[in-house]
Amino acid sequence: MEPTVFRPGLFDGQVALVTGGATGIGYGIAELLGGLGAHVVIASRRQEKLDVAAESLSKNGARVSTVSVDVRDVDRVKAMVEEVQRDRGRIDILVNNAAGNFYAPSESLSPNAWKSVIEIDLNGTFFCCQAVFPVMKAQGGGRIVSISMTLHYRGWPLMAHATAAKAGIDALTRTLSLEWARHGIRVNAVAPGPIPTEGVRKAFAPPGGSGVPDVFAVERALEDYARKSIPLGRWGAPKDIANMVAFLASPAAEWVTGSIFVVDGGEWLARGQPTGR
Ligand code: NAP
Repeated sequence: MEPTVFRPGLFDGQVALVTGGATGIGYGIAELLGGLGAHVVIASRRQEKLDVAAESLSKNGARVSTVSVDVRDVDRVKAMVEEVQRDRGRIDILVNNAAGNFYAPSESLSPNAWKSVIEIDLNGTFFCCQAVFPVMKAQGGGRIVSISMTLHYRGWPLMAHATAAKAGIDALTRTLSLEWARHGIRVNAVAPGPIPTEGVRKAFAPPGGSGVPDVFAVERALEDYARKSIPLGRWGAPKDIANMVAFLASPAAEWVTGSIFVVDGGEWLARGQPTGR
């Protein structure tokens, strides 16, 4: 693990369940929580991806296990939580990070495409929160952090499904925080700006694909976007989001609930304005 400002062993003895924890931002979150002593359970659909991620997380010293789950399936979500509770005895931290996304014009978005994103992002987040509630209540508390976005603050063409789902996650975060505070459960969210994970890099890849690939084209497009659109001048990294999740999961945030933290280098505030770079 890279050097961190958090103290070693901050999450010793705790269990963190991270959905979508095998890739991208979720992997970064699992790496930091695991590096700080938590036993991390990473959960998503594809077991082969989970195995690769678990091997690499354990090589870095983290204690990690995997559960294969489709968060759209409420019974599988309940079974996942039962499995983690049986094997690990507790769940201290839930990170709702799993999501699906793609660009599509609203006028031709099929009912299935709409449903799929709403079901993964919004329903999946709710099912996971609801499933861990009795475990956290019985333990006397817990921390839930959901991964949102900023694109719904002003709207974002071709993303009706994802922006609607993430707006729902923000609402859910506030409402659950009020309902569950008396059980010692804190519920917060993090809204990342652009983080060039594999999916985002594909979106920046030049169209076509035939002929010799220009391996630097994506890098140039990414740099250009950061210079023009991100006041702090760089793209985000999974560790930027992981740091906020670790803060929210730590005792330093013991009086923080129902909050949604934007971590985006100033991108959404500056949208449409020159960054001066
Ligand atoms: P990513 O690498 O594609 O991660 C998505 C993860 O979710 C994958 O590991 C995927 O694994 C899992 N997943 C998808 N559908 C699932 C399902 N039905 N059940 C269980 N797991 C499922 O994307 P990312 O960029 O790291 O994004 C992580 C989070 O950050 C998402 O919530 C995203 O909306 C949010 N975000 C990202 C950005 C960005 O710029 N990257 C910006 C704002 C917000 P399987 O396919 O194996 O299931």
